[in-house]
Amino acid sequence: MRTFAETADRIAATTKKLEKTALLAKYLKSAPIEEAAVAAVFFSGRAFPMWEETTLQVGGTLLWRIVEELSGRSDLELTAAYREHGDLGAVAGAVLPGGTETQSAPSKIRLIFREIAAVRGPAAKAVLVRKLLSQVSPLEAKYIVKIMTGDLRIGLKEGLVEEAIAKAFGGRVKDVQRANMLLGDIGETLRLAAEGRLAEARMRLFHPIGFMLASPAESAEDALSYFQNAWVEDKYDGIRAQAHCSGETVRFFSRTRDEITESFPELPDALAGLPQDVILDGEIVAWSYLDDETPTDDGDAKTENVERRVPAMSGVEGPSPVLLKEETGRALPFSALQQRLGRKKVSEQLMREVPVAYLVFDVLYAGGELVMDRPLRERARILDELLKTRTINHEGREGTRRKTKANPAITQSNLAFDPECLPPTQIIRAPVFQASSPEALNKLFDDAQARGNEGLMIKDPESPYTPGRRGKSWLKLKRELATLDVVVTAVEYGHGKRIGVLSDYTFAVRDGDRLLNIGKAYSGLTDIEIAEMTKWFLDHTIEDQGFRRTVEPKVVLEVAFNNIMKSDRHSSGYALRFPRIVRLRPDKLPEEADTTQRVEDIFQKQGG
Ligand code: AMP
Repeated sequence: MRTFAETADRIAATTKKLEKTALLAKYLKSAPIEEAAVAAVFFSGRAFPMWEETTLQVGGTLLWRIVEELSGRSDLELTAAYREHGDLGAVAGAVLPGGTETQSAPSKIRLIFREIAAVRGPAAKAVLVRKLLSQVSPLEAKYIVKIMTGDLRIGLKEGLVEEAIAKAFGGRVKDVQRANMLLGDIGETLRLAAEGRLAEARMRLFHPIGFMLASPAESAEDALSYFQNAWVEDKYDGIRAQAHCSGETVRFFSRTRDEITESFPELPDALAGLPQDVILDGEIVAWSYLDDETPTDDGDAKTENVERRVPAMSGVEGPSPVLLKEETGRALPFSALQQRLGRKKVSEQLMREVPVAYLVFDVLYAGGELVMDRPLRERARILDELLKTRTINHEGREGTRRKTKANPAITQSNLAFDPECLPPTQIIRAPVFQASSPEALNKLFDDAQARGNEGLMIKDPESPYTPGRRGKSWLKLKRELATLDVVVTAVEYGHGKRIGVLSDYTFAVRDGDRLLNIGKAYSGLTDIEIAEMTKWFLDHTIEDQGFRRTVEPKVVLEVAFNNIMKSDRHSSGYALRFPRIVRLRPDKLPEEADTTQRVEDIFQKQGG
């Protein structure tokens, strides 16, 4: 771990990407493969490979307390050190006395991380963390703490680790990226690269892979400037979910690659038994049943549906026709879905009160073949074929609800409901429209809003599926032209009835590796959300200044505002006029927050 830490220090000391990758490549090549594999994961700022669900569950407050205790420094001295260094790892490196252990290879540290992850409760974790930090040298402690907090802050993104692996073992960067994307494990990728077997990396079902991301479009004209014939879908306001299906086993993963199957126990059943193994991409939304669920005078539900074929426009070969059964219901806003999120157990009552649907818009893998490199046009055809019998999973129609069989992804406790008593679960192929003029796009935008959806997703039919990348092949056109996804960096106690809760948030946008504050907002969340967030912030405080606390920069919020102003009040050099919190974005990582560049773009577009 000493060489790891020394290398990390050297990488931090240069701003040149080529130098960073060269230093890292040299280290990876000189270390034994097993150690290099673990180190590659650590260099990506993770304790465990991405696909693993294991987490350390050691908060900043606990680490702070341990560093304070081992260093014998007062809270004030530590706070001063934190102000000077900017992160807890660097503070640990500066103030810890260091131990006598000399043989702490990365693999040994990883074993200790596994023990820490396995024990329950902060007290038991603290014992192990204290022991670890008291044994290693201050420099090693610096990086161990950084890995534990999930950010090395040495200007090294996973992309550079991929480049370093290619450089060290002579593969093509493209092949390393692909293997890493498929495996979700940079260490395993390194092992394959070292053995010249990158091409053998295979898709592994139930290991979530990266999601393709969208870039914002400022207007219909702007969107169509990227590609002429756009495929257009409604932008549903729910949570992104990747479904891995193999026979009766179906699991859902969120954008942060956490398994979320337990929160939606009614969904796997609706997708179970597909004829092939598949990975689907879509959005889980709260769903409201409209007309056809309304009992008629004689007590039966209306079952008649209108089928509508999407017209192909301007002679271009269109998407394969999508059946829209218009009267089966509509997606509800995100606030309705919120009650369903983050639960391990979902009561039958909640499933009845907040039914959900899975709107599927892409397929990444089908029948033993990775289809991500094929153009959207082809993937859409595969998807239509796959979901032909399930486009609407409704009582009394083809592809109706199946009898629940034991799904290994669902715990027994979650099956404590009678699926026959619940509203039918919908698996819906998201309807695809086409537009080749701003007028047509604006009309679709209005229609989407009339259906209660957030806006539009505009996609290039010729584009491949590029996991984890935010390109211009998918564009999003939203209701509020200007909302920003920001990271909460500090919180304050509120006023009036909010005097006892942390309700005022200071938030930041990304600027390279830094977070620069851009504003502060007071409300917008519900009392329940504020209470929950207060608890989280108390547990994840970095510095307690009495009325104000700097907190771990992990919480992402979506904020709306009227416009952007230049201002030296905040470190970004900008301020938001009338900022308001639209919602929490638990599905987003801080690395996915908006950047100062986007702020500048919006500022320019609004006329400076
Ligand atoms: P945003 O979260 O604002 O960055 O917008 C991108 C998100 O919109 C995606 O990650 C999806 O969760 C969501 N979304 C809703 N409808 C669609 C759709 N039809 N295609 C792709 N993404 C969609």
